Amino acid sequence: MTQPEYGSITIRGARENNLKNVSLDIPKRQITVFTGVSGSGKSSLVFGTIAAESQRLINETYPAFVQQFMPHYGQPDADVLENISAAIIVDQQRLGGNSRSTVATVTDAAQMLRVLFSRLAEPRLASPSLYSYNDPRGMCPDCEGIGQVAAMDMSAVLDETKSLKAGALLPKDFAVDSWYWEIYANSGLFDLDKPISQYSAEERENLLHLDDGRKIKVGKIGLTYEGVVAKLKKGLGAKDPESLQPHVRLEYDRIFTRALCPACHGARLNAAALASKIDGHNIAELSAMQVSDLAVLVRKIDAQSVGPMLNALVLRLENLVTIGLGYLSLDRESSTLSGGESQRVKMVRHLGSSLTDITYVFDEPSVGLHPHDVGRLAGLMQQLRDKGNTVLIVEHKPDMIAIADHVVDMGPFAGSKGGEIVYEGDYAGLLTSGTLTGQHMRKHQPIKQDVRKSDGALNIVHAKLNNLKDVSVAIPKGVLTAVTGVAGSGKSSLIQGCLPLAYPDTIIIDQNLARGSRRSNTATYTGILDTVRKAFAKANGVEASLFSANSKGACPDCNGLGVIYTDLAHLDPMVTTCETCEGKRFLPEVLEHQLRGKSISDVYEMSVDDAVAFFTEPAVAKILKGLDDVGLGYLTLGQPLSTLSGGERQRLKLAAELGKKGNIYVLDEPTTGLHMNDVDTLIGLFDRLVDAGSTVIVIEHNLDVISRSDWVIDLGPGAGQDGGRIGFEGVPADLAQSKTSLTGQHLAARG
Ligand code: ADP
Ligand code: ADP
Ligand code: ZN
Ligand code: ZN
Repeated sequence: MTQPEYGSITIRGARENNLKNVSLDIPKRQITVFTGVSGSGKSSLVFGTIAAESQRLINETYPAFVQQFMPHYGQPDADVLENISAAIIVDQQRLGGNSRSTVATVTDAAQMLRVLFSRLAEPRLASPSLYSYNDPRGMCPDCEGIGQVAAMDMSAVLDETKSLKAGALLPKDFAVDSWYWEIYANSGLFDLDKPISQYSAEERENLLHLDDGRKIKVGKIGLTYEGVVAKLKKGLGAKDPESLQPHVRLEYDRIFTRALCPACHGARLNAAALASKIDGHNIAELSAMQVSDLAVLVRKIDAQSVGPMLNALVLRLENLVTIGLGYLSLDRESSTLSGGESQRVKMVRHLGSSLTDITYVFDEPSVGLHPHDVGRLAGLMQQLRDKGNTVLIVEHKPDMIAIADHVVDMGPFAGSKGGEIVYEGDYAGLLTSGTLTGQHMRKHQPIKQDVRKSDGALNIVHAKLNNLKDVSVAIPKGVLTAVTGVAGSGKSSLIQGCLPLAYPDTIIIDQNLARGSRRSNTATYTGILDTVRKAFAKANGVEASLFSANSKGACPDCNGLGVIYTDLAHLDPMVTTCETCEGKRFLPEVLEHQLRGKSISDVYEMSVDDAVAFFTEPAVAKILKGLDDVGLGYLTLGQPLSTLSGGERQRLKLAAELGKKGNIYVLDEPTTGLHMNDVDTLIGLFDRLVDAGSTVIVIEHNLDVISRSDWVIDLGPGAGQDGGRIGFEGVPADLAQSKTSLTGQHLAARG
């Protein structure tokens, strides 16, 4: 290799997770794409080694006092890590945050707009803060800048047909004979046998709202009387719903609904801020517009005095459009964005930055993007590089791999059968290499001609959710259907939003897993441990509970986790291996009990693939087979769910659902995180599901999946208000002939 002009990041002997003493040089100020099957070790190298070392170095530059409040990154397991510049990780972690976090705040467009208003609007307010719903001087006083107020669903509070004795009060805490109920029963205010619907206005007022501090005797003590509504508001209603236990949260959501704030109608700002306008629009109206429309409007503003600020705002808006997010509005709450959308919104913030010599690390940035938009994304990556930055991208899409100045192909397979570099060099070389990636880049699956016949249809009629324009569609039953269209065209709204309303037995398999506790791992999630423990017990003539991570057989210091979590306020917890059991989770005497030569700790360390060969117990074997089928054979049984990617979570869920008797499966971009080779395996699984009588519907951009489905529903033509219609329904071969469908054009272009 010729010496790169700007030097390279040097890695020698990297061994994180499955990496086998990996050594490589990554040219600086170039684009390096990391490919390879799922589980081959791309993340272990890029995130676990390079990005982790950068974070560690950055943290070391803080004063010792500050460092003690920051997560401690252990040195990644490698002999040499040199010449690493500051890294910025742009991943698919959702932009959580409260309702005050929006697309505008995340991209800094909010602040730019406010400055613009404080300079140009009629009438002018003195400071940008006066346009901020996070500032007491700008926020709507009624909703404190949230745009919504809590309302109560009375049908979840009262059953009007019943009397108090018959259980008219519906919230759990108010059940008949509860303390709360006794207060009303003993108040002497009500006829306990009279249905609520027959109460006089005064009785009703007393039941719901009376709050004069009077005491009522319940048993031997006096309790303060409070009307049902008043009590709910002060109790449950005053809690932060996000902090509630799941069953209490369920109750909360049943009773409390959010309604548009009557004062600001959702605009979040006070009257003065809303009266201040540029070209007849106030700042809330501009924030509610689709970004692509807002960009046009802002570009037309002619004001020399704020030229640079205007240009910066226009550039930011145009970058959002370029990256395929023009359909979002600036006021969209960031917590409602998908993983792919979140990653692209974060990207826009960095595109505006003039920093150079930064290492940017992207995790499959093309997730959620239509092939039509991938080219523009690639262009932005090149811009970042041309500003003098090093760009590292983990990717599977051929069009993204094609922009690599340098390719690192990991493999040959996953887990213990991977962890090596199988090809390293330029893109042209990859195309002729014998690696799995090379082979798949050379040939792709032809468009399916012998499509299956449907048996009936699932009908969605007059769907209007989000941007859907009164859509009616028949989704064929008993076949594999791909739902396509550019990001924001309405695929999720139609399939995840509307279909389950008509067919509640639809099984939606998305990328969110119940967060679960730290005890959740592959083994606990799939429920195989019961059988495993029994097998150990039987083989050793001891109690099964001995092998439970919650039992007295577990290591007392880490409680059977093998690691110790140290919680740090506001930061990711620090994770260290438990010194007492050396990560083995159990007491030495428990580890002595073996099953066919393995201890219970060895079982946690096994990959699913190894476990398939080890376990003959039918209940376990069947579940393991399911995990293997969805391409998760490389996961270890003890791997915490928190370390899984979105795509891995979705496939884990799919494996768990496969055992149940499902009929309609919906998956949202199931190829996320999958190598072209893994995609073939997944399509094979869909085929088997369909052949067994299920209806499988996938929302996908992957052309391999689209070309091998039986039916395609293409939404569009554009995104947001320019989408929401069905442009094509039919077999993939006909889609490739369509002159009007963008998806069809890309399918045809593959040949
Ligand atoms: P890729 O990014 O190519 O999909 P990864 O680097 O995520 O691959 O995984 C490589 C191997 O390391 C896999 O066998 C995976 O199960 C394992 N692995 C990854 N993260 C962890 C972890 N936090 N704990 C244990 N094993 C892990
Ligand atoms: P796709 O699945 O094709 O990417 P979506 O169905 O997610 O498209 O989005 C269609 C339109 O509906 C977009 O304009 C999007 O901004 C809007 N939308 C989707 N979800 C929400 C939501 N939770 N709140 C507000 N608007 C939404
Ligand atoms: Zn308000
Ligand atoms: Zn321990």
